[in-house]
Amino acid sequence: MEGDKFSMANKREFPLEKTRNIGIVAHIDAGKTTTTERILYYTGRIHKIGETHDGASQMDWMDQEQERGITITSAATTAEWKDHRINIIDTPGHVDFTVEVERSLRVLDGAVVVLDAQSGVEPQTENVWRQATTYNVPRIVFVNKMDKLGADFNYSVSTIHDRLQANAVAVQMPIGAEDDFEGVIDLIDMKADLYDEDELGSQWDTVDIPEKYKEEAQKHRDEMLEQLADLDDDIMEKYLEGEDIPSDEIKKAIRKATLNLDIYPVFAGSAFKNKGVQMMLDGVNDFLPSPIDVRPYKATDPDTGDEVELHANDDAPFAGLAFKIATDPYVGRLTFFRVYTGTLEAGSYVLNATKDKRERVGRLLQMHSNHRKEIPEVFSGDIGAAIGLKNTTTGDSLTSTDRPLILESMDFPEPVIQVSIEPNTKADQDKMDVALQKLAEEDPTFKTETNQETGETLIAGMGELHLDIIVDRMKREFHVEAKVGEPQVAYRETFTKQVSAQGKFIRQSGGKGQYGDVVIEFTPTEEGEGFSFENAIVGGVVPREYIPAVE
Ligand code: GDP
Repeated sequence: MEGDKFSMANKREFPLEKTRNIGIVAHIDAGKTTTTERILYYTGRIHKIGETHDGASQMDWMDQEQERGITITSAATTAEWKDHRINIIDTPGHVDFTVEVERSLRVLDGAVVVLDAQSGVEPQTENVWRQATTYNVPRIVFVNKMDKLGADFNYSVSTIHDRLQANAVAVQMPIGAEDDFEGVIDLIDMKADLYDEDELGSQWDTVDIPEKYKEEAQKHRDEMLEQLADLDDDIMEKYLEGEDIPSDEIKKAIRKATLNLDIYPVFAGSAFKNKGVQMMLDGVNDFLPSPIDVRPYKATDPDTGDEVELHANDDAPFAGLAFKIATDPYVGRLTFFRVYTGTLEAGSYVLNATKDKRERVGRLLQMHSNHRKEIPEVFSGDIGAAIGLKNTTTGDSLTSTDRPLILESMDFPEPVIQVSIEPNTKADQDKMDVALQKLAEEDPTFKTETNQETGETLIAGMGELHLDIIVDRMKREFHVEAKVGEPQVAYRETFTKQVSAQGKFIRQSGGKGQYGDVVIEFTPTEEGEGFSFENAIVGGVVPREYIPAVE
């Protein structure tokens, strides 16, 4: 019956090659929220800037996120830009939530890395960059805050080379900086995009490069072409011959090298001053992969143990991965999932192959920043949110009922910090248990248990902020107020601990490490015992394996 009802609508709005699933990643405060908000504004989805920070929020629709100015949910929102569908999969910037970053990296195909033009690459940028490399995610870089005091585009680009050992290729040159940041020069088309003011209307004129910038722009274009020539024989030949290289050939070469993770195109702008965001969005369309450009997703047939490769294709049986369970303030429990192959209709049954349970998908939604659009069907390569999947948790494989498959999923690290928790009112104990159980179902890195001896309730998570948010949600959503004990974990190992190969250790603090110490991950430069700080990555919290059990 439902099939009939929706059969008229069984048509995809956007072809697969014009679909982008991207994440926006950044060190905290680099401007991820502002950039995301501007993207939603310019793609026509929100109509008032500033909604994120005052009043009805967009991506950060959980209250405590607004208050804390961080984003913790990994929900997805859908936007349209020049005939392309861009699904933005939200990724948190706070270090406590690296696992959330990891899970979103699993389901996205490309990423925009936002840098602060004054600071360039920062510690959390390094973490996320490394995670993105692990998952083969092609990236473009947006050097934001070009209007800020101390903004320096070339310096920012150099930090990508130096700190990430990554081949950054500037495809733009900023016109001016700080208060004089006026626009960008497109080094591919050799045109200048000049903004006349920094109003939201954000009018710019595409003009010939002003005389005084011509020489510098030519120099940067040559640098860009030389970098490309190293990777592309056609460009090399034409460049050496001094031939004109048409823009579309350059773009093609950049796209190919970006998809191969050989280069990372760099853009400049100021989200806050409404400059450069549109050109960066063109870059998303031009250089980041569609679902058919990425390597096939791996799955296993649970009956035979055979490995199966999933290619984006509407005609194949449905297979998708649940990557986020969220409680929506209006519609309740939502399961966000990425469709790898096939299509899924609202009202149909799926197999949760991980749990070996059939479940019915009630309604299907697509989130457009602040409004929810009900859709009859979700297609291959797209992101959907299902209402009605009661047994599905993050990381579960959803497939058509007649073809069970287990999709390569995510490993969730063990929690690193544990505290006791007690309801303010004794009578609330049962209510608190229910709330904690529900929250644990949503979040695989949050655990709750009862200490068998003392009867105390213990909660464990990825950091103090993580647990604060849990307690806060318990109060807001379940109306249970509780007090929490002191973090009970302590790191006692010294840093002479032998580490080999790719290793991790913790910076010692006064002979004894403790929760919150900085984890340094490094790549040893010599065989055997020697190691070097050269490639050290600083960030993170003390992982569980370094923390002795609490007596
Ligand atoms: P997030 O933590 O990465 O999400 O960063 P936000 O988008 O919340 O921005 C952090 C701060 O930087 C806020 O005060 C923003 O107003 C400010 N900001 C963001 N983009 C820009 C920019 O382009 N220029 C300047 N000057 N400030 C910016």
